[in-house]
Amino acid sequence: MNVYDSARMADVLAPLGYEPAGSPEGADMIVLNTCHIREKAAEKVFSELGRLKQFKIAKEADGGRMLIAVAGCVAQAEGREILRRAPQVDVVLGPQTYHRLPEMIAKAMRAAPGAGVLDTDFPPESKFDHLPEEAASQGPAAFLSVQEGCDKFCTFCVVPYTRGAEFSRPVGQVVAEAERLVADGALEITLLGQNVNAYHGQASVEGAEIWGLGRLIRRLAGIDGLKRLRYTTSHPRDMDDDLIETHGAVKELMPYLHLPVQSGSDRVLEAMNRRHTADDYRRIVERLRRARPDLALSSDFIVGFPGETDRDFAETLRLVTETGFAQAYSFKYSPRPGTPAAMAECQVPEAVKAGRLAMLQTLLNEQQAAFNQMSVGKTMSVLLERPGRRSGQLVGRSPHMQAVHVSAPEHLLGRVVDVEIEAGHPNSLAGCLAGDRAAGAIDPGVGAAPDGPFRQAGL
Ligand code: SF4
Repeated sequence: MNVYDSARMADVLAPLGYEPAGSPEGADMIVLNTCHIREKAAEKVFSELGRLKQFKIAKEADGGRMLIAVAGCVAQAEGREILRRAPQVDVVLGPQTYHRLPEMIAKAMRAAPGAGVLDTDFPPESKFDHLPEEAASQGPAAFLSVQEGCDKFCTFCVVPYTRGAEFSRPVGQVVAEAERLVADGALEITLLGQNVNAYHGQASVEGAEIWGLGRLIRRLAGIDGLKRLRYTTSHPRDMDDDLIETHGAVKELMPYLHLPVQSGSDRVLEAMNRRHTADDYRRIVERLRRARPDLALSSDFIVGFPGETDRDFAETLRLVTETGFAQAYSFKYSPRPGTPAAMAECQVPEAVKAGRLAMLQTLLNEQQAAFNQMSVGKTMSVLLERPGRRSGQLVGRSPHMQAVHVSAPEHLLGRVVDVEIEAGHPNSLAGCLAGDRAAGAIDPGVGAAPDGPFRQAGL
């Protein structure tokens, strides 16, 4: 979402004459767009601001002026502290106010040095209503925010405090933006939201009809030229029947889903306020796989949540073994200031967390490697997104989100091509173009994906 937000900030700044610079050196403005999810996020921002200050000093020594802005969720959470500790910062803005950047810049230009401008409101107007219609091309694989914020209040998470209450963009606005992206060359669109499957967009300005994510996906799949759709990040509780059926019915919806579970222990899930059980998750996965047998799953895991016992952790390992994940993100629990779990007394010792994380990651890595190995010998459709490190090599994504390194000429960049997979590595695949068909425009080719639900050894 920060990649999307950064692109939209660039769109807001373009009419003022700003354009993206190749490096911070000599730039007229630096916008540091921050994320609060990772550990010690605020400290990383302060350390980065120390580094950026040198560029500002150098520009001023040359008689120029450089503005430094801090945006995103750390800005939202730590706004005043940033201005207090880092007087080199001119503007601090939260994720919901970046459409006001031009006013903030004008104020900052008039302000005395060190008097920063702060705007971390949750304004009543939606920023999406005020963003410019003109947007820079995002290339063949584009992001589109359809939903923001969250009302779930998981006890470990800062999102409801930094991004605010759940909000869905109206259907018409989403469709118009998707059509623009496709006209600009996007073949794949990833729909974004902190809790994207909670999407409930107004169907029309006057009407009371509300569309869920499944219906929105079916509408977007009808856009001429759009080959692939994805969405992230979703919550098990919002996986409704319509969305599950959409996975089976819409070929443009790629057979890959990131569905965070966090833990396999009901006791821990309750302490996390996840509002689902491990068996709820299993049932949802079962239904999804019935609708879309080749669906590849990804998930998030937190180990060492306050109060997690060996038995709880064993439940997580059991769920992973039974479910099978094509990839996953796993972390040691680390407290986020202001969240309920941070205040819990029963924190798990670091050494225990580290031991459990290593065990979990070994299992997840084995599953990912097995999943990648099962792709070898198959022909898959790959959207070629960027040049690889080696000459004559392009890199793209399979329908299952695997990174695929392909020997292919550069003119195929931005195309969907069929690729024969020759090797499966722990984190990627390698292959070559599938014969003569590579030179032509190829169908999104979801049918060319590897067979089956990958349940070998739990996959
Ligand atoms: S559902 Fe996701 S975004 Fe919302 S509070 Fe929980 S972890 Fe955070």
